[in-house]
Amino acid sequence: MPGNMKPQYRRISWRRTVAAIFIACLAQIWPGAAWSPAGAADSVAKDTRLGGDAQRTRFVTVLSKKVKFAVRTLANPYRVIIDLSDVKLNLPAGRGKKGKGLVSGYRYGRVEPYGVRIILDVNSPVLVEKASIWPARGGQPPRLVVELTRTDRKTFLARQRASAKSRAAAARKAGGKEARAKPSLPSPGRRKSRGAKRVIVIDPGHGGIDPGTVSKSGTREKNIVFAFSTMLRDLLKKTGRYEVILTRTTDSYVPLRQRVDIGRHRGADLFISVHADSLPGRQARRVAGATVYTLSEEASDDEAKALAAKENRSDIIAGVELPAEANDVTNILIDLAQRETKNLSIGFADILLSSLSGKTKIRKKGRKSAGFRVLKAPDVPSVLIELGYMSNPADVKRLKSSAWRKKVAAAVANAVGKYFAKRTARNPF
Ligand SMILES: [Zn+2]
Repeated sequence: MPGNMKPQYRRISWRRTVAAIFIACLAQIWPGAAWSPAGAADSVAKDTRLGGDAQRTRFVTVLSKKVKFAVRTLANPYRVIIDLSDVKLNLPAGRGKKGKGLVSGYRYGRVEPYGVRIILDVNSPVLVEKASIWPARGGQPPRLVVELTRTDRKTFLARQRASAKSRAAAARKAGGKEARAKPSLPSPGRRKSRGAKRVIVIDPGHGGIDPGTVSKSGTREKNIVFAFSTMLRDLLKKTGRYEVILTRTTDSYVPLRQRVDIGRHRGADLFISVHADSLPGRQARRVAGATVYTLSEEASDDEAKALAAKENRSDIIAGVELPAEANDVTNILIDLAQRETKNLSIGFADILLSSLSGKTKIRKKGRKSAGFRVLKAPDVPSVLIELGYMSNPADVKRLKSSAWRKKVAAAVANAVGKYFAKRTARNPF
């Protein structure tokens, strides 16, 4: 290929990649369903019921009125995903912990942008034989009835592939134009005019259907990190120097790729993902303190590797269909863009660690790295902070204290200020 063809080839690859990602996102939306935030006119899901045996199981959701819904299956592990639009959940406490027949248990909560999601964990491959709304009759309220039958893995996968294909085709039909019209992504450092506000994206981990780590006393990571993130947002906003965006503003799950895309499409200068870790067994009581992570292909140690695997499981917990890996050319391009981003991320992580020291306990090893999916924006410097350990009682006490949160959020805000001061000094334009 002649040398002057190369730039064009690259541009096409980028466009194709963006289009592919966009289509992959759209493919997950039930065609024709109109999703809207919870409102007064919503149906209320008041109860759920399970019936049947290990060959045939029926899952019933009792509603106050009819809703739009979508049902699909996922493998590894086997799950049935039920998405409902315009519904409020008002289920009795503890619902879903006990299974019956093919269903070993179920979880529910909000997932963006689909609405309310119920995930049935099934103990073998199943077929969704029927899924329909039974209208109100004879004093009975309307019900969504999903009938599952046992099948083998081969049939399960074949059915899943066929339905994914038809969803993708429907999405292409509905969104092909939008995918082509998607603007090209800005490159780092070139998009800001002098004096423009820096854009900070704060990413409170987990949310909605995914509680994250839960402490022994029942404190949920998703709530701890959300409270911290909103406090940090307010502190940064008060300086008047930043535009601050949260990846989620409610108790709702946002897929990891979507969190990355929020950073990219808003032209973020910095992306901070906020989490609280946990360790199993004897380590749990011994290990405490904050850790700051950056992205790397090779994890800095086994613990970092295990943590990234756990955090990356969020999408699986929330029933998000993972898009196929990008092709090799894309990987090379991303690699090049990432070199600068990687150095900036490490630079911020080090400033953050020194700003935190003395304000809270820090784990001895300080900065670590691993393959966190949420840090994978090639052009946005990104770090993930684990505020402390939900498995350590002293840390949980700190994490729940608003005085501690204030002190640590101020230290993070301080680090953000130092990071940009340093960048401006080096490159005033
Ligand atoms: Zn987490």
